Amino acid sequence: MRVSGEDALAVADAIFICADARPLAGTPRLMRFGTFDAGDFRDKGYAVFFPAAAAYTGEDTVEFYLHGGVRIMKGALDAALRAGARLAERGEFTKRAYLAGRLSLADAEGVADMINAESAAALNAAYRLMDGSLTREINGIGDFLGDVITSLEAVLDYPEETEDEVLPPLEGEIKDALARVNALLATADSGRMAKYGVTAVLAGKPNAGKSSLMNALLGEERAIVTCTPGTTRDTIEGSVECDGVRINLVDTAGIRESEDEIESEGVRRAIRAAKHADVVLHVVDTTDDREGEDALDFDGARVFTVRNKCDLTSYKCPRMYGCFAVSAKEGVGVEELRRAIAALAAEGMATGGEVITSERHKDALYRAKNALESALSSLDGTVDLTLVDLREAYDALGEITGKTATEDVVDAIFSKFCVGK
Ligand code: GDP
Repeated sequence: MRVSGEDALAVADAIFICADARPLAGTPRLMRFGTFDAGDFRDKGYAVFFPAAAAYTGEDTVEFYLHGGVRIMKGALDAALRAGARLAERGEFTKRAYLAGRLSLADAEGVADMINAESAAALNAAYRLMDGSLTREINGIGDFLGDVITSLEAVLDYPEETEDEVLPPLEGEIKDALARVNALLATADSGRMAKYGVTAVLAGKPNAGKSSLMNALLGEERAIVTCTPGTTRDTIEGSVECDGVRINLVDTAGIRESEDEIESEGVRRAIRAAKHADVVLHVVDTTDDREGEDALDFDGARVFTVRNKCDLTSYKCPRMYGCFAVSAKEGVGVEELRRAIAALAAEGMATGGEVITSERHKDALYRAKNALESALSSLDGTVDLTLVDLREAYDALGEITGKTATEDVVDAIFSKFCVGK
């Protein structure tokens, strides 16, 4: 249990007695053994006092470590409430840290992402965000734009004192800022895949081996398979982690009959599902040499052609002629395919660099990009117009770190946290 705020010590003194009777206040950041007095019961445990300057929230904080029973937790909370504390709102500890200037808004979102992450790749992306890598880059671009804005404002305020030559070399500077914004946007696809996983849709004719391949890709131990009832046929989804990346597999299943009508419905459904896919696994029965098998068009989606049943042919190598040759039945080539899917999440990601994993950040960056492009095209016009665009870009970037975020945005972000974070 954690208590934060200027009365934290007073609350602690009312409910916790250190075993050596010395006050908790005298031993900052030291774990003290003692007795927790909940009123209707007592427990033995520890308490630590973090003075404001050394606390996550930037306020005096006391943490209690008690036995984790449900009734103990409830009693401990009640005792703290009676001693003057109130229950924290969702994400309030992190919100207070943000309001105290300990974290940027983006850093705080990294904390939430850490808690919600479902794969090592998601955790690594969240850690980078929480650690401030995006904040540093956004602040860098923002400071740079801020300087340009200030010098332009000086030109407007004191036109008679500023000669033409003193005008900052605007075009180059705006292009530099734009290039940095574009570099961040270029990581958004990989960032989304790292955070939520790579979605792979299996498509292909009946009996090509889609279900078998799905099972082979999922493996036996780590697979989670759920059946989602669809309008005409079921969609089967499953996920597995490979090289730290979550792979979400979708099989537009159930098209077993060979009637043309149903067959083409299967293809239509696969194409629809492909719209939400990062990659389509076009499964082809390599022993079936019917015409037109490779002519399926998945609306521009990335396609891996997977030639299945290679155990029935002489193909034994995992990749050939740009295709994957696998045997779902014997498990040949499956690991290579799985790793190639996972590797899609790493594409476009600068090693160790910042990566965009949030729609909110991506949206703000797009607005900054549009404003900077507009600023570039307004350079031949009046300085006022350019200034409007540059300020818009500056504000959009500031929404990411919180510098220019409205209270509503801040509240919406912290309301997605759980209580106690
Ligand atoms: P789907 O209709 O595309 O989902 O295909 P299934 O996964 O149901 O497989 C159709 C048939 O092909 C089944 O009888 C499977 O046992 C068989 N099959 C699937 N993969 C392989 C493979 O790699 N080698 C061989 N020999 N048979 C396979």
